[in-house]
Amino acid sequence: MTDRRKKVVIIGGGITGLSAAYYLQKKIKDHQLPIDLQLIEATHRLGGKIQTVKRDGYLFEKGPDSFLARKLAATKLAKEVGLGRELVGNEKGKSYILVKDTPHALPDGAVMGIPTKLSPFITTGLFSPVGKLRAAADFFIPKTKNQDDRSLGVFFRRRFGDEVVENLIEPLLSGIYAGDVDRLSLRSTFPQFLHAEHKYRSLIVGMKKLKEIHPQHGDDSEFKKNSVFLTLKEGLQSLVDGVEKAIDPDIITKGIKVEKIYKEDTTYELSLNSGKVIKADSVIVTSPHAAAQSMLSEYKIFEPLKHMPSTSVATVVIAFAQEALQDNLDAMNIAVSRNSDYTITACTWLNKKWPHAVPEGKVLLRCLVGRTGDEAVVDQPDDEIFKIVLEDLKKLITISAEPEFYAVTRWKQSMPQYTVGHHDMLDTMNEQLEKELAGLYVAGSSYEGLGIPECVEQGEDVAKKAVKYVQQ
Ligand code: FAD
Repeated sequence: MTDRRKKVVIIGGGITGLSAAYYLQKKIKDHQLPIDLQLIEATHRLGGKIQTVKRDGYLFEKGPDSFLARKLAATKLAKEVGLGRELVGNEKGKSYILVKDTPHALPDGAVMGIPTKLSPFITTGLFSPVGKLRAAADFFIPKTKNQDDRSLGVFFRRRFGDEVVENLIEPLLSGIYAGDVDRLSLRSTFPQFLHAEHKYRSLIVGMKKLKEIHPQHGDDSEFKKNSVFLTLKEGLQSLVDGVEKAIDPDIITKGIKVEKIYKEDTTYELSLNSGKVIKADSVIVTSPHAAAQSMLSEYKIFEPLKHMPSTSVATVVIAFAQEALQDNLDAMNIAVSRNSDYTITACTWLNKKWPHAVPEGKVLLRCLVGRTGDEAVVDQPDDEIFKIVLEDLKKLITISAEPEFYAVTRWKQSMPQYTVGHHDMLDTMNEQLEKELAGLYVAGSSYEGLGIPECVEQGEDVAKKAVKYVQQ
């Protein structure tokens, strides 16, 4: 290693970039490394898609609502920045799937749509008798011979038939990505199903066994039993603020956009929209992939990112006084199958899921619109989107008064789609990066998982790689 101080620049101050900055700074401090660090964020705030709103005693999220408790990276980060006691688990409630406009209770024992208990599946009205018989073929169908990537649709249709895919698996799984099961990659979205099939042949048997082996979340003693999701009492933005506080303020530059990145011998030059050019020995790019591709458009390596689709969605949060509604369903969550004549793709009763976030006597609904192949609604004006959502809700529950307020947030091209072959595309890109642009890393929701814990994990991982690289 030379005596010259080295510099790592992180582009993007969403949860991935922040995690990278936090873990890099930690490593630098712990080992007194001669490394300077800078995080550059295009907007005037940190957090990227994480945006908590506090309004009239309500607390809600414009973007991500919470994170999966069983994926531990976000919990670990919250604890590291002193927010462990702020973590709160969701309340349990009834979940429904809307199939051909009829709400059906989610059968007990469904793990991400896969049955692990038989009797609720035999009695559910979600599928026809023929559909149920076809699904039972899972017990006999041999496992797939090769481990090649394929779409979720191809995989699940083979094991359970079309009806179970369309009425249950599609609305649950594709909801997370706002995607199309027939295009989403099994390997990059839910590889556990491929592993379960490989090990147990039957997915029903496999998911039952895995459920017994792995508890729903990391540490039962700390959070409400069976809480699948976690947030923080003051919202996800408080995790962002906590991490920001833990990072030396001199490291963070807000309101500056990185326009281009060039490699000059062994260093990188970053041109900023302020006209300034800064140098770095290592660069971590955590912006969404389209922005990354644009910054690095000189380099063919990133061409495949041009063809990686992203879906547009909008969240619509609506607050009512309790008296304004007659809730015959008593649902906490509704997922909507594509064969229903609805525009909303999902709806959550936030007052049931997160009672701490909603004043007593109020109802707070959060609906989603937009998914692959059905995104035009996102471009409608706010009042149009609200009207469409309200019409859908009125088909489900009785609404007799105006809401106290509503808030529409558009997320244009914000849900990266991991289509079949995504993993191979990343492998090739990373291999070429190592050869041609050593010391430059890409991380975040466009690559190895779009959940908050996966983003934190990627941030920590690239922090390690960058430190190792600049020290060699
Ligand atoms: P981002 O949050 O997009 O941050 C990237 C940052 O890079 C931004 O701040 C941007 O301004 C900055 N940037 C871009 N270009 C430049 C540039 N040229 N120079 C400098 N900075 C730049 N995940 C969950 O775990 N649970 C959920 O419930 C959940 N729900 C979601 C609901 C919605 C509506 C959406 C949109 C996403 C949801 N997600 C959820 C996914 C999750 O929110 C994201 O995957 C995650 O927050 C992405 O973090 P990131 O840091 O990778 O990217």
